[in-house]
Amino acid sequence: MYDVVVVGAGPAGSMAAKTAAENGLDVLMVEKRQEIGVPVRCAEGVSKAELAEFVEIDKKWIAAEVIGAKIYSPDGSEVILSEEQAGNEVGYILERKIFDRYLARLAAKAGADVIVKTSAVDLIRKDDIVKVKLRKMGEEWEVESKIVIGADGVESRIGKLAGIDTTLKLSEIESCVQYLMNNIDFDPNYTYFWIGNEIAPGGYIWLFPKGENAANVGIGVMPAKAKRKPKEYLDNFIKQKFEDGKIVEIVAGGVPVKGEIKTAVADNVMLAGDAAHHADPITGGGIINAMKAGKYAGIVAAQAIESKNYSAEFLRRYDMLWKNDFGQKLRRNKILQEKILKMDDKTLNKLARSLAGKNLGEMSVRSIVIALIKANPRLLWDIKDLFY
Ligand SMILES: Cc1cc2nc3c(=O)[nH]c(=O)nc-3n(C[C@H](O)[C@H](O)[C@H](O)COP(=O)(O)OP(=O)(O)OC[C@H]3O[C@@H](n4cnc5c(N)ncnc54)[C@H](O)[C@@H]3O)c2cc1C
Repeated sequence: MYDVVVVGAGPAGSMAAKTAAENGLDVLMVEKRQEIGVPVRCAEGVSKAELAEFVEIDKKWIAAEVIGAKIYSPDGSEVILSEEQAGNEVGYILERKIFDRYLARLAAKAGADVIVKTSAVDLIRKDDIVKVKLRKMGEEWEVESKIVIGADGVESRIGKLAGIDTTLKLSEIESCVQYLMNNIDFDPNYTYFWIGNEIAPGGYIWLFPKGENAANVGIGVMPAKAKRKPKEYLDNFIKQKFEDGKIVEIVAGGVPVKGEIKTAVADNVMLAGDAAHHADPITGGGIINAMKAGKYAGIVAAQAIESKNYSAEFLRRYDMLWKNDFGQKLRRNKILQEKILKMDDKTLNKLARSLAGKNLGEMSVRSIVIALIKANPRLLWDIKDLFY
């Protein structure tokens, strides 16, 4: 009998398990893979300042540090956001194989039990507790828990079993493929983004440095808009830009870009991170929101145990916490994403050119959009209130 069972040991799960254990709860975290953090389904980019709010930065899991970003429109027009311009720190590229394991170790250190190669396959609610059916190498058993935190990623089984609406339409998911590439030439001080309806329909191509001449080079496209598979678009791009590059790792995965969901709770259950579609609809970034949500879920689990109330009504305070923190940003960026999806390449070029030589202030989607609204008031008038 546990107070909390956390399903999934990604950033959301480990933060939830750590926080719940720190609050004195009996916690079990189960991870279906045999190794936490592997395979990496992520470009691993994260904001320095936001990450530092959760963990002490450790060079062991930092693969690279960047001072800015370069964005290219379909005709090659370049928009540069840099530390020199913005006067603030920009970002890290993580080594998630090490980072995810580090977070799980923090959860274990706080007192959580952690088991790997173990899937949660069913939930059975009985009276006011839940039986969680677990499966490890063909063997099945049940544990009882007062609360279950589903941090089981974009295809969340826990969400479905708990009856929380987490369905995704083809227009609400980015389909991604990424290569870890060596032998490529670029300035490692920057991350790079290429946009355009021919380059990456409904998404973008990215390059995130991972050391000398090495980088995560990937693509996200919206299946509802793309005519071909994401890999074909990416291969075509790489042939043109990095012909001599060597691919040493391939990953594929989906990012939910649905925006804010109505609720991430049911009786006895909270969903956190990708399971609750907490990734940003514009950037696809989800690590920080997953960590925030995991922490909030851990806090609310402790309150629920103390109050002996595990009902959805009580757990709604978790919805309040994550919605107050980043719900508005998810809503706003979903509207922006829908607007960008309707733009043709000519408009994207026009927008990029309008920013040439401008100081964009802080490195964020908001600062780019504010600069764009100032330079193109007619084109973007309808979304101005969202960003000011
Ligand atoms: C190609 C790609 C690039 C990305 N790049 C970035 C980026 O640069 N920056 C960024 O911030 N975000 C990025 N993201 C998004 C980011 O990876 C996710 O938002 C983040 O990992 C979400 O964390 P999580 O803990 O919610 O889920 P996950 O990290 O997906 O962890 C879920 C865990 O649950 C486990 N699990 C699933 N089902 C079960 C089960 N039934 N039982 C037990 N365990 C289970 C899984 O094995 C997994 O370990 C990217 C995503 C993709 C696909």
